[in-house]
Amino acid sequence: MTISNHTVGTFHYTLTDNFGNILDTSSGRDALSYIHGIGNLIPGMEEGLEGKSAGEKFTVKISPEKGYGAKEPGLIRQVSRTQFEEQDLQVGMRFRTPAGISTITLIENDTVTLDANHPLAGVELNFDVEITDVRAATKEELAHGHVHGPGGHRH
Ligand code: ZN
Repeated sequence: MTISNHTVGTFHYTLTDNFGNILDTSSGRDALSYIHGIGNLIPGMEEGLEGKSAGEKFTVKISPEKGYGAKEPGLIRQVSRTQFEEQDLQVGMRFRTPAGISTITLIENDTVTLDANHPLAGVELNFDVEITDVRAATKEELAHGHVHGPGGHRH
């Protein structure tokens, strides 16, 4: 069976940026299961997985447009350090802000730069993928919009 609409694809992946930094990996965890064709995954990933079958290993390269979108400059703001209750501010800390979840990307003197873009916005994504299973989705899974069992919802 190959991955097509309304099949459940299960795969291991390692995500790297163009500098070879590992951003995420399923190694050491359950493989990821998803229902193909209903928007569970970013568009570029679904395109890369379409038509693949269990046992296949390959790399999917995804542009920001088909990943987490371009970085929007309007979502980057500079605020005064005095606006934080937290004393020990550090780059990488995340806060809930009116613009969404924001990450501190720079601290210079009393100015803190907050970025509400998705952390992977503007990043070209390289997924090393190994498909471990492909099966038909059940009616219940399709009704819920997610996979049940290992690698999916357990409810
Ligand atoms: Zn469910």
